[in-house]
Amino acid sequence: MKVPDAASPPLALLPAIAVPDAASESPNGQLSQRTYSEAAHPYRSPFVRDIGRILHAKAFRRLAGKTQVFTRRGAESDHSRSRLTHTLEVAQIARIAAATLGLNAPLAEALALVHDIGHPPFGHAGEKALDEALQAHGLGFDHNLHALRIVTSFEERYAVFRGLNLTLAVREGIVKHSRDYASEQHPELSEYFLDQLPPLEAQLIDLADEIAYLTADIEDGLGASILTLADLRDHVPLFAGFYAEAQRAYPAAEPNLLSNEALKQMLNTLATDLMQQIAEEVQTLGIQTLQEIRSAPRRIAHLSPSMEEKRSQAKSYLYANLYLSPALDAEHDHAEEVVKSLFAAWTADPELLPPDHQARVLKEGAPRAVADYIAGMTDAYIEQAWLRHKESL
Ligand code: MG
Repeated sequence: MKVPDAASPPLALLPAIAVPDAASESPNGQLSQRTYSEAAHPYRSPFVRDIGRILHAKAFRRLAGKTQVFTRRGAESDHSRSRLTHTLEVAQIARIAAATLGLNAPLAEALALVHDIGHPPFGHAGEKALDEALQAHGLGFDHNLHALRIVTSFEERYAVFRGLNLTLAVREGIVKHSRDYASEQHPELSEYFLDQLPPLEAQLIDLADEIAYLTADIEDGLGASILTLADLRDHVPLFAGFYAEAQRAYPAAEPNLLSNEALKQMLNTLATDLMQQIAEEVQTLGIQTLQEIRSAPRRIAHLSPSMEEKRSQAKSYLYANLYLSPALDAEHDHAEEVVKSLFAAWTADPELLPPDHQARVLKEGAPRAVADYIAGMTDAYIEQAWLRHKESL
């Protein structure tokens, strides 16, 4: 009956460091507990259920309309990534890495699927504008904390509670996958073990994210003609090395195909290096349990020093030549103008907000309620709101 599926054997890791997948009485069983207790599902484990809850969330669907790197320029190409397709690429890397290492693959997949759910429209430019607007009110915008608010409060899919009632492990990972939060400054996050490192399933999301967007943004940057193959080969050794290998293997191939071959090898090599480093680090530190991951002297998930140096160099190149390229200045300026103008207008007159958001002004204050409204929008939705706002002036 069963179709054989030959695959490389898992790297030798002790299964005890994986987050357990079923609620149990063990000290780690609490990670699959939910805020509101629910009966176990007959065949879906807690983290598999969380994957379903995230996939069916409105905020997840809105990722399709949110900028990853390209905003209006992106509309001119059918191929540049949205936050949704970026998210799916991160999920692929994270799921495979977790399964290969003997970690909890459904937990890693759930965390990857939810990792960008808190991002505002217009990519980094939109986030920066929203953060600056809030800072004028003594507040700030943090996409991880916003993601937590989405899954614990803003999503409405259940009759008896607000939010998605995700497991503790997924909520902890949403908060801590990419950075640490000091417990003194964030008493509201006290249930997320702020004085401990997150499980490996969460730690590897940050690297899966880096690997996914490094390779994808080179491809999309070439597609948008902001990056050039010649300049990449001159200034990004990580890419140039794989490109040269592809040239040797396929001397007659067109440059765009060689570039694709190079990017595939780059992604594969970075992901393999990440898995090997995690396995090695676990061995070096003698880690045998999840608790030892949590109390380790440093995060376990990282690339090898030489690969990290190449990754960091490639990322610096992308900052200088793509993310902060003058070619994108106009759309970044537009993003800032739209976000800041709407924020100012709605904060000054919250009655312009839809009724459910007006109700939140009373609870949270206008700046936060307006920021939450803006952060949820897709690029197209905020553009429409901006046009209506300008017509009303
Ligand atoms: Mg991401």
